[in-house]
Amino acid sequence: MRIAVVGLGAIGVQALWQLSKHEGVEVHGFDAAYPGHPEAGSGGESRLFWNLELAEPSYVPLIERAAIVWDALERESGAQLRDRSGVLVLGESGNAQLANGLESARRSGAPIELLDRHALRRRFPQFDLQDDAVGVWDVEGAVIRPEQTNVTTARLAAANGANIHEFTPVSDIGLEGPGVSITTRHGTEHFDRAIVACGGWTPTVVPAIKEEVVARRLTSLWFTSVEDDHLAGMPPFLRAAPHYTYGIPTKDGRAVKLGLGFNDHFVTGDASKLPRRLEGEALENEIKKFDWIREQMLPGLAKRPYRVATYVESYTTTMFEHIKPHPENEDVLVMAGFSGHGFRVAPAVGEIGAQLIMSGKSELDIGFLDAYPKAFEILDSFEGLTTHNSVMTTRGINEGG
Ligand SMILES: Cc1cc2nc3c(=O)[nH]c(=O)nc-3n(C[C@H](O)[C@H](O)[C@H](O)COP(=O)(O)OP(=O)(O)OC[C@H]3O[C@@H](n4cnc5c(N)ncnc54)[C@H](O)[C@@H]3O)c2cc1C
Repeated sequence: MRIAVVGLGAIGVQALWQLSKHEGVEVHGFDAAYPGHPEAGSGGESRLFWNLELAEPSYVPLIERAAIVWDALERESGAQLRDRSGVLVLGESGNAQLANGLESARRSGAPIELLDRHALRRRFPQFDLQDDAVGVWDVEGAVIRPEQTNVTTARLAAANGANIHEFTPVSDIGLEGPGVSITTRHGTEHFDRAIVACGGWTPTVVPAIKEEVVARRLTSLWFTSVEDDHLAGMPPFLRAAPHYTYGIPTKDGRAVKLGLGFNDHFVTGDASKLPRRLEGEALENEIKKFDWIREQMLPGLAKRPYRVATYVESYTTTMFEHIKPHPENEDVLVMAGFSGHGFRVAPAVGEIGAQLIMSGKSELDIGFLDAYPKAFEILDSFEGLTTHNSVMTTRGINEGG
C-alpha cells in the first residue's frame, strides 16, 4: 500500500514515523520545506509539555498516551527531546481552569504540588503575584525541543524506509477516488491513501474544512532581565485564562520567551499570504500586547524584547483536534486544528493518525474530541474572522471584563 503524508511538522512527521514501521507500506512524506524547519508551527526552540488539562479534563487519555509515546520516541532515538524540569501552572484561587487542571491530575494521577502565594514567592521570586495567586507545580511537566523532535523523528522514519520529499510543496490533492493523487512541482503521483497535516496551511490545502478550522499567526517575544541573574531558577510557566500567557526560559536561564492566547493572534484566511516579518508600527503594537506581563507579573524583564518571531497555527472552533476523513474522500485523513497545544500530544496523535489511515479505527477512541462545546464561531472563513474566543482569554490583571 502507498501512503502519502502531506506536511512534516509536529503531527505529520509523527504519523510518518508510525507508518514507516508497518510491513508492506510504502510511505512518502512531503514538506514545503523540511522536517525541523523554523517557519511553520514548530519553530522557536521550545514547547511546553504539561500534564494538566485546563479546559476539558476528559481530554486526559490523549495526554497520558502522549507521555507513553514520547518515552518510546526518546528511547528509540536515544535523543533527549524533553527537559523534564517541571512546569508551573498559575492562576487565582477559584479559577475555573485551575479547577479543571486539578481534576485532570486527579484522573491521571499526575504528581502535582499545590503552592500558595507565600510558597510561590519563596520559590519563584521572579513573579509579582496578587494576594489570591495560587500555583500548581506539574512535577513531570517538561520543555520540549520541537525542531529537534521533528528532525529526530524524520531520521527514525527514514531509517525504516520512509521517503522524505523536502522542499516539495503539494499544490493539489486530487480527490477523485479510489485513492488520491498528489501534485507537486515534480508531477502528479497516485497513492492509495493520504494524511494531510499542513498546520495553519491546512484550511488552504483542504478548503472543505474552512468552516471548522482557522489559521492564526502567533508572535513569540524573547526578553532578557534588567539585572543579570534575575531569571536564574525561573520555571517554565503557563498562566490560566482570563490572564492567559505562558513563558519558557531559554536553556541558559538568562532569558524567557513569552506568548499570548488566541484572541491576540493575527487573523488570516490564508496562511500562505501572511506577513511574517514585524516592523515599525506593527512591531510596536505587537510588543504593546505583552506590556501587562512585564508591568504586572514579571517586573524584572527588560522593556523591549531582543528577539521577535512569528509562527503559524491552526485552530478548531472547539480548540480540540480535527482528526477526520476528508468529507469528499475517505482515503484522505485530515489532521489539523491543534489549537496551540498540539506539540505535547503530537506523538500520540501521529500514532492515532497512522492507525486510522491503516484500519479506519484507533486503539484510543477519540470520539470525546467531538463532544466539546465551541469556544468561538467562524464569521467569515475566507478572511478567517471569528468571534472572541471564550476559553483562551488574555487580559491584563488589572483589566476588568
Ligand atoms: C508560538 C507557538 C507556541 C506553541 N506552544 C505550544 C506549547 O507550549 N505546547 C504545545 O503542546 N503546543 C504548542 N504549540 C502548538 C504546536 O506547536 C502545534 O499545535 C503544532 O506544531 C501543530 O503541528 P502541525 O503538524 O499541525 O503543524 P506544523 O508544525 O506547522 O507543520 C505543518 C507542516 O506542513 C508543511 N506544509 C504546509 N503547507 C504545505 C504544502 N502545501 N505541502 C507540503 N507541506 C506543507 C509546513 O512546511 C510544516 O512543516 C505552539 C504553537 C505555536 C505556533
